[in-house]
Amino acid sequence: MALKLTGTVAIVTGASSGIGAATARRLAREGASVALIARRKDRLDALVAEIKEAEGTAFAVPCDITDQTRAKAAVQTVVDRFGRIDILINNAGLMLIGPIVGADVDEWEQMLAVNVRGLLYVTHAALPYLLTAAADGPRNVADVVNISSLAGRKAWAQFGVYNLTKFGMNGFTESLRQEVTRRHVRVGVLEPGAVVTELISHNNEQMLSEILEPFNALHQRLDADDIADGIEFMVTRPRHASIAEMWVMPTDQVA
Ligand code: NDP
Repeated sequence: MALKLTGTVAIVTGASSGIGAATARRLAREGASVALIARRKDRLDALVAEIKEAEGTAFAVPCDITDQTRAKAAVQTVVDRFGRIDILINNAGLMLIGPIVGADVDEWEQMLAVNVRGLLYVTHAALPYLLTAAADGPRNVADVVNISSLAGRKAWAQFGVYNLTKFGMNGFTESLRQEVTRRHVRVGVLEPGAVVTELISHNNEQMLSEILEPFNALHQRLDADDIADGIEFMVTRPRHASIAEMWVMPTDQVA
């Protein structure tokens, strides 16, 4: 049986762990050649080996996407290697929570750098190739999926700057969708509720116990594969159908 993404080339940012790693595995399983972008080269190399072992095609592109020059070079490396880009999954992200009053402003800068500027740099560099793929690629359609969050739909105290980055991502996604959808580049946002990954591990112990542990104890969190399911669905629709927004929640997570 033909695989759904045979002949396509996909970039997944933040592919060294969590949702990005699950998505890279999934897209490769469906026949895409997958370029894995993140900073931890050892993790990327291990995932490339795993995908190859399963007879998939993958390529590690170690890169800090907060550096515009490096982000652009990473995208060019993918094109040099695979010749095209059909699918871009903007997944790399950072969540540092805590009060705005008295915050460590450096933590804000880190979130803005990854969640906003990294998103913009990679998207800007990839768009010309996505437009080309939509115009004369085998599928005549290309895809951008931006991994936002429930925090892009709802704001909570202690999540202020993370909320800012994810609400911003949602606005950017819809604006870009309107700009390029008639050229058959589908642009959509996927907003997960709570997922078991390393995302929370970058917070200090006090923030985790005060803010997140009671929050996460309320429900059974999703697995990264649950999000990969949604991404796979979004990028495998027929050419005439575009999923602009998908909100995936643990069943027992209310808010
Ligand atoms: P992880 O912490 O497991 O993954 C984050 C990924 O981002 C890692 O692969 C990390 O790789 C990469 N990354 C971080 N900084 C950079 C950088 N400067 N350059 C390149 N890559 C970078 O968490 P998740 O899998 O949970 O997060 C994936 C996305 O899902 C994020 O955008 C997050 O906001 C979103 N999300 C997650 C939810 C959850 O409950 N887990 C809920 C809602 C949304 P490396 O460190 O190797 O660079």
